[in-house]
Amino acid sequence: MTYPTQPEASHFVNGRYVEDTDGTPMDVIYPATGEVVARLHEATPAIIDQAIESARAAQADWAALSGTERGRVLRRAADLMRERNHELSVLETMDTGKPYQETSVADATSGADALEYFGGLAGSLTGEHIPLPGGDWAYTIREALGVCVGIGAWNYPTQIACWKAAPALACGNAMIFKPSETTPLCALKVAEILIEAGLPAGLFNVVQGAGAVGAPLTTDPRVDKVSLTGSVPTGRKVYAAAAEGIKHVTMELGGKSPLIVFDDADIEDAVGGAILGNFYSSGQICSNGTRVFVQAGIKEAFLKRLTERLSTAVIGDPLDEATNFGPMVSEAQLGIALNYVAAGQEEGARLVTGGTRIDKPGFWMTPAVFADVTDDMAIAREEIFGPVLSVLDFTDEDEVIARANDTEYGLAAGVFTSDLKRGHRVIGRLEAGTCYLNSYNDAPVEMPFGGVKASGVGRENSKAAIEHYSQLKSIYVRMGAVEAPF
Ligand code: NAD
Repeated sequence: MTYPTQPEASHFVNGRYVEDTDGTPMDVIYPATGEVVARLHEATPAIIDQAIESARAAQADWAALSGTERGRVLRRAADLMRERNHELSVLETMDTGKPYQETSVADATSGADALEYFGGLAGSLTGEHIPLPGGDWAYTIREALGVCVGIGAWNYPTQIACWKAAPALACGNAMIFKPSETTPLCALKVAEILIEAGLPAGLFNVVQGAGAVGAPLTTDPRVDKVSLTGSVPTGRKVYAAAAEGIKHVTMELGGKSPLIVFDDADIEDAVGGAILGNFYSSGQICSNGTRVFVQAGIKEAFLKRLTERLSTAVIGDPLDEATNFGPMVSEAQLGIALNYVAAGQEEGARLVTGGTRIDKPGFWMTPAVFADVTDDMAIAREEIFGPVLSVLDFTDEDEVIARANDTEYGLAAGVFTSDLKRGHRVIGRLEAGTCYLNSYNDAPVEMPFGGVKASGVGRENSKAAIEHYSQLKSIYVRMGAVEAPF
């Protein structure tokens, strides 16, 4: 079932694989075993320069095609991704450690959705006609931004590459994508597929490396836009660097999202939502509802069902289709999550289940549930990005809304209740960019995704993403004489 993980070369620039062994070596580690599965090199300044130059050279001709022609390439790429879903899913599992049970339905498939959706939209991207007094009129032209840089996190390497590349390319831009240094393999496959689908060389380049490779891309004057998926601290740096050059930005950052369960909720659905919102991808999802506020009347019943259902988690070989809980992405991320488990216990939260390192090679821990968590505890305030769920008690609607909003983050929020008026009322008052009612963590390409407050700027997916990868040129047309004062 495994596939070769060592790519032909580290980077993909101007339509082909390129290597520069002067770059710092980067080991790619399979999180399930700790084994090195590929060895790459970080991009040198020469590689970064080639990537930017080839993107600039290719962009104008691409933008001059009709949207329908651009869309055809993206839709062909979507078909190739779906045909190769199995192979791509195995690679995603090797890159991230996420179980094949997840990767086979959530990664290349979601990337293909984005390519198909924006491919379909590309032919409809237009400006508008604006009638004005005296027979004058104006029109707008929707233009590409130019060269866009995408910088990815490690949890969804295929999806992040496609969520950024698809709208960027649909609008007529070129993209240079820098994957996370932890998961560099999948974006190279996206590049291969785009070229095979007919994308001209230079329009989707992949350069590898850590922040030191990302940073010059955010300041280079030849770059017009930076789209980051990453943590808030990195977001602050990248946003500031891009602001210096007055570049466009999209910031998809971290969160500490609330999931509110009222006592009239369907408990099975609410527990299901809490599981999806805390343990899918071993908890390494930005929008996770890690602060689970449970109304007092159903707290014990909720905890009982949650614990029972968690005990059926299948933790094992991620490539085995029965496995539904995999390892953490790295030793460092495992250490962060385990430290938060220790901090929660020290601060007086009750560890109901899990939270221990599994004694085998790789980066494994059991999914953790804390009860009796209070708002001031570190596990309730800070993003953990691991499988650590905190249950907080509440009694009253106004109280829970105030507590849910008492955070610098605002990525997502969920409400479980049978009272739909209450559900909509509460969601109307929650400070979050992406909300779920009686569900959690759905991200269809048709729906805008993104955060408010420190969780981000801009939106990915849906028609909203078009606004972030294009700009309007306004043209005033005078039909009569020009009246000047002298
Ligand atoms: P990170 O912030 O450590 O790194 C993100 C990316 O930024 C990496 O590719 C990294 O190399 C790069 N980078 C770091 N410093 C840089 C700099 N100075 N200039 C340019 N690039 C730089 O995040 P991570 O640990 O890879 O991912 C986890 C974080 O990502 C979490 O906070 C999570 O919530 C967030 N995330 C957000 C979303 C979203 O859509 N909102 C999705 C997934 C992950």
